[in-house]
Amino acid sequence: MSYVDEVLERIIAKNPAEPEFHQAVKEVLSSLRPVIEANEEKYRKEALLERLTEPDRQFKFRVPWVDDKGQVQVNTGYRVQFNNSIGPYKGGLRLHPSVNLGIIKFLGFEQIFKNSLTGLPIGGGKGGSDFDPKGKSDREVMAFCQSFMTELCKYIGADTDVPAGDIGTGAREIGYMFGQFKKIRGTYEGVLTGKGLSYGGSLARTEATGYGLLYLTEEMLKCNGHDIKGKTVCVSGSGNVAIYATQKAHQLGAKVVTVSDSTGWVYDPEGIDVALLKEVKEVKRARLTEYAAARPSAEYHEGRGVWTIKCDVALPCATQNELLLEDAKALVANGCIAVAEGANMPTTLDATEYLQQNNVLFAPGKAANAGGVATSALEMSQNSERLSWTFEEVDSKLQGIMVNIFHNLDDAAKRYGKEGDYVAGANIAGFEKVAEAMIAQGVV
Ligand code: NDP
Repeated sequence: MSYVDEVLERIIAKNPAEPEFHQAVKEVLSSLRPVIEANEEKYRKEALLERLTEPDRQFKFRVPWVDDKGQVQVNTGYRVQFNNSIGPYKGGLRLHPSVNLGIIKFLGFEQIFKNSLTGLPIGGGKGGSDFDPKGKSDREVMAFCQSFMTELCKYIGADTDVPAGDIGTGAREIGYMFGQFKKIRGTYEGVLTGKGLSYGGSLARTEATGYGLLYLTEEMLKCNGHDIKGKTVCVSGSGNVAIYATQKAHQLGAKVVTVSDSTGWVYDPEGIDVALLKEVKEVKRARLTEYAAARPSAEYHEGRGVWTIKCDVALPCATQNELLLEDAKALVANGCIAVAEGANMPTTLDATEYLQQNNVLFAPGKAANAGGVATSALEMSQNSERLSWTFEEVDSKLQGIMVNIFHNLDDAAKRYGKEGDYVAGANIAGFEKVAEAMIAQGVV
């Protein structure tokens, strides 16, 4: 049996209830086969894959808090510190009822390669809780965040582990967590990113993941003889990534015609009205039905269905496993030329394979959505310097990083005879740097 298959088998046996983690490891290791086979003896001796797939450490803790009725609630908190061979652990905190250890591990594992791909000195980690901020009052969210940070603050620090936002963790939650960290630890340090501008946040961090997704998509299209200008785009989700992806797509001359949320989706052939979308989702925190009610050109549909709309470019920006094989078939049948993942692992393995087999350009999330974490690393640099850069400075650095990421993965794919396979390219480029650092640092 090959080294990769042996390791995969062992991971499934050791972590039986973590299907998302299995899926992520399988996807990464499968596309690393050419590199691993070329170095099999060395990597086996070093147990490199076993070390890479076992987190440095993982914390699971109780998060008790009191709701507005005086009732004590208990959630579970997680932080997985996966790999710090190229820099302090870095990765977001997800607050969503679906959160469990397997999901945090899959996200943390992917983060290692994504962070490496940015070219910046950041390791991989992830955390979160099964707490659902939806429908909670500000006081309840604060009570949860303070309790969560009371435990988490023991394990993190500006040079150790720097969490950020993710699903359910926006500026409000980061603010409450930062306040509690400062209160307990008594230091003012860049321990979290995604902070408010008045206390160490970076301009353009809010926009970074969505904007970065478009910068990379634009470069991928350009290098394959297409222009983003004039393209019709389907976006899923209507959160942070989806909103700013839509905004940048419009700025680049494309037209986004769909967005979705966890209950339904909107088709707006005139092009999504970003100001209205922001009002509905960022200000009112309401459902997309309100968007459709305020916009005569928009149709609202219950359930899922974004990928049935004809488009040139598809940008899944909601959540994991939201673009399935049947969706990939619909996209191909409708003439889609490119898919770039704004969310983490939104496309299932069989859907990814189908798209690639049908010559759809496919940019995996760990490259395409790396703009968020790259800008978080720029926030860390600004905090260390005690300086704030302008929006234009950060945005232009972000654009440079995304273009560079695309060329790194394009080159890596070519080096291993996999031209145009950007999934393999991203994994190989991300892996090579981490593997070299791990080996150089000895058995730790
Ligand atoms: P948000 O919480 O801001 O938005 C998530 C969006 O996805 C919402 O519109 C939500 O709908 C929708 N959604 C969630 N679950 C489902 C579901 N099961 N089916 C359909 N829609 C769903 O999160 P972000 O925009 O920040 O993150 C989106 C994705 O991007 C995640 O995978 C995240 O890990 C990834 N990502 C985010 C980064 C960032 O900087 N924010 C960086 C890199 C990756 P509703 O409004 O109903 O909740």
